[in-house]
Amino acid sequence: MARGRSESFFVTDFTSLGLAAPLLAALTDAGYTVPTPIQTQAIPHLLAGRDLLGIAQTGTGKTAAFALPILHRLAANRRAPGQRRCRVLVLSPTRELATQIAESFRTYGRHLKTTVAVVFGGVGHVPQERAMAQGVDVLVACPGRLLDHMGTGGIRLDATEILVLDEADQMLDLGFVKPIRRIVAALPKARQSLLFSATMPNEAAQLSAEILKEPVRVAVAPVATTAERVEQQVLLVEHGAKRELTADLFADPALSRTLVFTRTKRGADRVTEHLEKRGISAAAIHGNKSQGARERALALFKAGRIRALVATDIAARGIDVDAVSHVINYDLPNVPESYVHRIGRTARAGAGGQAISLCAGDERAFLRDIEKLIRQRLPVTARRGEVRDTPPDEVEPRRDSRAQRPQGRPQGQRPQAPRDGQRSQWSPTADATPEAAQAANNNGGSGRELAGMAFLSNGRGTPNGRPGDAKHGPRKAAPKAKSYGPSRRALG
Ligand code: AMP
Repeated sequence: MARGRSESFFVTDFTSLGLAAPLLAALTDAGYTVPTPIQTQAIPHLLAGRDLLGIAQTGTGKTAAFALPILHRLAANRRAPGQRRCRVLVLSPTRELATQIAESFRTYGRHLKTTVAVVFGGVGHVPQERAMAQGVDVLVACPGRLLDHMGTGGIRLDATEILVLDEADQMLDLGFVKPIRRIVAALPKARQSLLFSATMPNEAAQLSAEILKEPVRVAVAPVATTAERVEQQVLLVEHGAKRELTADLFADPALSRTLVFTRTKRGADRVTEHLEKRGISAAAIHGNKSQGARERALALFKAGRIRALVATDIAARGIDVDAVSHVINYDLPNVPESYVHRIGRTARAGAGGQAISLCAGDERAFLRDIEKLIRQRLPVTARRGEVRDTPPDEVEPRRDSRAQRPQGRPQGQRPQAPRDGQRSQWSPTADATPEAAQAANNNGGSGRELAGMAFLSNGRGTPNGRPGDAKHGPRKAAPKAKSYGPSRRALG
């Protein structure tokens, strides 16, 4: 029977969640001891076979929240999947996320001999057809390529028992609504369905109403504290001087594994070329690169064989690299949440990190939006080298065409959370209180609203006990600027 939320919230270890012994063994291998709030809340309902609407972002432990009970149910009722068929279908918006979800299933299912396949575009069809020929327990797929395989008969969904839509809001942003509907239409009506989304715009709510039957709603607040652990600074520099300045920053050997974010694919290539010209080992990763090239670049970066990985936001989504020493925002993102997501790459394992943002005159509006979102003033080093400490509201935005925020819900805004480093102890402070989750359930709020809920719900009116008003929060004292001396050439 499903446990109520208030009861399940106090579960403090995986054993009491009722998971099978081989799964518990895999969790011990992975070093997980404490379930995260989304796991505590979702697992009992999923074990009981309920549909679920999960409002949670990457970094909350949501993959294990669905993978563990799914694996448990598969093991409890073993059967051959049937040729070209899968027992579980997980839909993912991006290749990187699909790969990671599949890895998670393999990790947690390692003592159960679970078979897992991944299907996405940009690589050959034939190996994927071969992988599916005998059928698999779990298929993780991006919608477009899955439809291709369904069209050729390489994959059939008529025996699928469980559907998971992960990052539904991202899939809708990427225009996958029709493909999703076609895929769902090919599934048996009697199935268990799960939908996870960081936010719940109307379109996602509508989709969940179509797909889920009497779902349990589970919500946890985004892990919003990432930005506070990162030492951040902004360097004011005109566009024309950014490349030189970026290369100059690498004079500091502390930049050992640095992610550089650019807004465009072309920009990523240019920055990479320039760094290489200056003798700094670098590779670019973006949507125009082949899957092979992306994987090679990532492997070099993970192995510490290149110092810089230059990426666009979309390409960087879902990449899980530990020990990133620095993040350089070569371009400030026009979506402020992307900033949090980007800099979170350097604050894994509860550790601090370094983020350096290059801000040109026409990007100041973006800076102001970021400062509002993170409720911090960022130390800004201006051209002559002094540190500006102007409240963001006093920064006069120059809203030219580049500075316009897009209408509607922006893409790529999942604040990132620590991953591997928190394996032994999950810090509850970063997550919603039960009251917050309950309140969010009741109001069906967005990710940002959820953060606000958590904010109000700890009885102090602040997250983590910080003083300040709930709406805009305290203006945090600017962290001390680290002196990455921008060179005279670049700045002066
Ligand atoms: P996710 O939100 O699924 O992307 O997970 C974020 C990170 O948290 C992943 O790197 C997981 O390996 C890790 N993780 C998930 N559950 C736990 C847990 N209970 N304890 C420690 N780490 C976890």
